[in-house]
Formats: sequence, C-alpha cells, structure tokens
Amino acid sequence: MIVKDRNSAFERLGELFAQSRRGVAFTGAGISTECGIPDFRSPGGLWTNNQPIPFDEFVASQEMRNEAWRRKFALEDQFRSAKPGRGHRALARLVRTGKLEAIITQNIDNLHQESGVAREKVIELHGNGTYALCLDCAARYEIDWVRERFQQSGGIAPSCTGCGGPVKSATISFGQAMPELEMQRAEEETLAADLFLSIGSSLVVWPAAGFPVMAKRNGAALIIINREPTDFDRMADLVVRDDIGDVLEPFLAA
Ligand code: NAD
Ligand code: ZN
Repeated sequence: MIVKDRNSAFERLGELFAQSRRGVAFTGAGISTECGIPDFRSPGGLWTNNQPIPFDEFVASQEMRNEAWRRKFALEDQFRSAKPGRGHRALARLVRTGKLEAIITQNIDNLHQESGVAREKVIELHGNGTYALCLDCAARYEIDWVRERFQQSGGIAPSCTGCGGPVKSATISFGQAMPELEMQRAEEETLAADLFLSIGSSLVVWPAAGFPVMAKRNGAALIIINREPTDFDRMADLVVRDDIGDVLEPFLAA
C-alpha cells in the first residue's frame, strides 16, 4: 500500500505499531536533510561536489589523506552545528516508549545519539564522523586534535602518535570492511523485529540495504518512508512517499 498523505500515514503507522511487539528503525541520509546535512543522491547532494575517496587510496598515499582531511574539515564547517530534526526526535520518543528496540543507521552524523537515544541502541553501519581512529591500533583522536595538527603543518594529515599509523575519520569508506560487531548486532535486531521501518534511505548502498529485505523475508512488516521510490517498495507492507519530518512529527506527541 502506498500512502501519500500525512494523516493516513499516521493512522496506518499507529495500527502497525499497535500490532507490533518489537520494532526496529533503519535510517539513511534522508532523515538528516531537514537538519541541513544534504543526502548523497538528491540533486545537489554531497556526491555532486565531493567524490568519495576510496579506502585503499586513503591508506596508500599521504596526498590522498591530506585531501580527505581537507574535504572533511570543509564539510565539518558546514555541518558541525546541525541539530536533531523532527524525525530523530520522533524516533527517540518511540525508543523511550518501547515501540522501537534499536535504530540501525547508515548515517555518520551522530544525530540519533544527540536526540537522546542511548548509545547502545544506535547501531552505526557506516561509522561516525564526529571523531577519528588510527587504522592500525584503533587509538581514538578528536577531530579538533587532527585539525590543529593539520593546520600547524600546512595541510599534512597527522599520523598516530602511538604507532605512526594513518588517522582516519571513524567512518566506513568505499572499499573498507564493514564493522563486524555492528553488522552482527544489526542482523540480530533485524531478525528479532516484527516491525521494520526504513526511513530516508535510497536503499542502494549494500550491504546495508540488505536489512530491510532480511526483515521482510523473516516475516516482519516492512514500512518504507522515503520521498522517492525505492527498489523495495514492491515488497513493503506500507510505503509512505512524503517528507520524513512531516510524517513523523505527530509521533512527537503520540
Ligand atoms: P541516499 O542519499 O542514498 O538517499 C537518501 C534518500 O532520502 C533519498 O532517496 C531521498 O529521496 C530521501 N530523502 C531526502 N530527504 C528526505 C526527506 N526530508 N523526506 C523524505 N525523504 C527524503 O542516502 P543513504 O541511502 O543513507 O545512503 C547514502 C550513504 O551516504 C550512506 O551510506 C551514509 O553513510 C552516507 N551519508 C550519510 C549522511 C549523514 O550522516 N547525514 C549524509 C549523506 C550521506
Ligand atoms: Zn596507532
């Protein structure tokens, strides 16, 4: 069933929540666009201006690391003040009231945590862009620490002070292995859910896009909330093609 207006969506979502014992949300860049962070695939999205740097190139070359950090700081300046939107806040409330057990996210912006969801309930498939890690020894560095060294050296990406390894923002790049623990936890939550809401994802990035399919095959009701059609709309129990903030706003008070 495809629903295009906010009122029918609220009604139908309410029914599905009432029938569900364990819900899971799966979010993509679309939930953060109203916070001022563009998604990748809408016109004028991030990809138009910033081709991602593949993982092997980052590891192989100091120049690429310099370039990756230069881009990261440019994006940071634009996005660091972003605050959770209506979608984040509605999901936080649904977690608090026990309607949602966990949030699996492709986003790296930390906005689910900032909206008040406990860290252990947010499963980050693509990491987190608000800090950095040494790729060799996993030492953690704050972005401001990297920025300071980057600026002092005239644009050279710093290495780990402990082991000399490359320091990279704690996100998963193309070509980089998926985080094992998070993939495992996402699978467990997906298979335990009887209601699975995919929100603001184009569902074209794999293996993340496999979770909605996995939930549906396992017998969960699948809901897709996204402005644009996705390849999985056909198998969903409910498709809401509307603005995420508008659709979820009533749940802030429900
Ligand atoms: P995507 O850019 O591929 O798709 C986003 C989808 O959201 C689009 O289909 C778009 O139509 C829809 N959308 C955008 N704003 C919406 C709104 N207000 N209401 C309803 N729908 C809306 O995003 P993706 O599937 O998450 O995959 C992109 C990859 O890029 C992810 O792997 C993620 O790690 C990364 N990314 C993250 C962020 C972030 O952390 N905020 C931002 C950009 C990209
Ligand atoms: Zn190190």
